[in-house]
Amino acid sequence: MKNIMTEVVVVGAGQAGIATSEHLKEKGINHVVLERDCIAARWRKERWDSLVANGPVWHDRFPNLAFGGEQDRFASKEEIADYMVEYAEKFDLPIVEGVEVLQVTRKNRQSGFVVSTSHGTYECGYVVAATGAFQIPIIPPIVPEKSHIAQIHSSDYRNPNSIPEGGVLVVGAGSSGVQIAEELRASGREVYLSVGPHDRPPRSYRNRDFVYWLGVLGKWDMVAPQEETQHVTIAVTGAKGGYTIDFRDLASAGITLVGRTVSFKNGIIYFAGDLAQNIRSGDENYLSLLREADAYIAEHGLQLPIEPEAYELGEDPDCVKNPVLELNLIESGISTIIWSTGFGRDYTWLDVDKATDEEGKPNQTRGISEAHGIYFVGLPWQSRRGSSFIWGSWHDAKFVVDQIDIQRNYRDYANPKD
Ligand SMILES: Cc1cc2nc3c(=O)[nH]c(=O)nc-3n(C[C@H](O)[C@H](O)[C@H](O)COP(=O)(O)OP(=O)(O)OC[C@H]3O[C@@H](n4cnc5c(N)ncnc54)[C@H](O)[C@@H]3O)c2cc1C
Repeated sequence: MKNIMTEVVVVGAGQAGIATSEHLKEKGINHVVLERDCIAARWRKERWDSLVANGPVWHDRFPNLAFGGEQDRFASKEEIADYMVEYAEKFDLPIVEGVEVLQVTRKNRQSGFVVSTSHGTYECGYVVAATGAFQIPIIPPIVPEKSHIAQIHSSDYRNPNSIPEGGVLVVGAGSSGVQIAEELRASGREVYLSVGPHDRPPRSYRNRDFVYWLGVLGKWDMVAPQEETQHVTIAVTGAKGGYTIDFRDLASAGITLVGRTVSFKNGIIYFAGDLAQNIRSGDENYLSLLREADAYIAEHGLQLPIEPEAYELGEDPDCVKNPVLELNLIESGISTIIWSTGFGRDYTWLDVDKATDEEGKPNQTRGISEAHGIYFVGLPWQSRRGSSFIWGSWHDAKFVVDQIDIQRNYRDYANPKD
């Protein structure tokens, strides 16, 4: 079979690949998007059943297509996947599903790349890696795999019926951990939630969703995480129409909060004594956003309803005042641990010198790799805080495609005296 020639190969048809393809198409650049599964496969297949977007549909979308219906609602994961399919159809994007990229190598002594796939080989001048930042589920090596406790990652959780009967320890209190813990508690399970450092913005304040406040306050545009918040997760939910996550409310609903999960020995799991501190830092993050929003409203003379009660925080629950520091899993009836502890990357298919560093991390600035001709889209903090979100990846894709176009110009330059 002959190699297929194209100018750009985009790897992955999630939001980042779709946005890249739209911009390439707009510039008339010949390309193909290779997707090993189906469009928006992660939204469609790799998230729990009840997941809805964390941002309202007027915000968490591409600029060139609005979701239908009420604009302050939160789309379900299926709706987001359908939206991506509709988007690809609207722009007639050249996406080929069911083709896995196995290896990308640089051509020998000529520019361009050879892309080996599960269905033939492509040759191209440029490669855009849009395989997502949420590739490999990370489970910290705390509890041995051989223990009798079932351990799954949040990406394998689907609904309360999909896990063994009994109590559950959910480790990680970002958006995933909190939503899963709440759903399990509501289904009647005994639930422990291990809470590490987190931000918890108000879902909405003075009639504006937090995505609006982060926008007008310039926080989506921060170019790098602050040193002290680098490993801080964000606890926010669009479930049940969206509400502010307050760990005190979770405790009132019967969830036992515990600190960071640190070790395991002889059937006993140990937690750090940092629960109260983590809750306090989360509260401070919440309150500081209220204060900044108030200052913005005053400065701009906005007429928005006041909401003084948002500043009132309840008393710490008993599980925060007297934290559980160790738990015998069998005696406390825990049958499952759900690790909501994030994801790692996998660019092992990208066999190009300098494209990634020794740890496999993309060697890039704003998506432009140190390996000439290789680009990335969809990385967290690629250009700013908003980069990993649907709308953010669209703007990063635009920048990357502009750079490809600039490079094509140099490539095509010819001097009559050559
Ligand atoms: C639980 C969770 C909730 C989130 N909620 C929101 C939200 O509410 N709003 C929001 O804006 N963002 C949200 N995000 C963040 C982000 O928007 C999503 O993770 C999104 O799926 C990332 O899109 P992507 O295109 O960068 O990567 P992905 O969606 O991961 O797409 C990459 C694609 O590449 C394919 N692929 C991988 N390797 C290969 C290969 N070798 N060959 C061919 N194809 C390959 C995969 O099959 C996949 O389809 C959430 C993330 C998570 C984990």
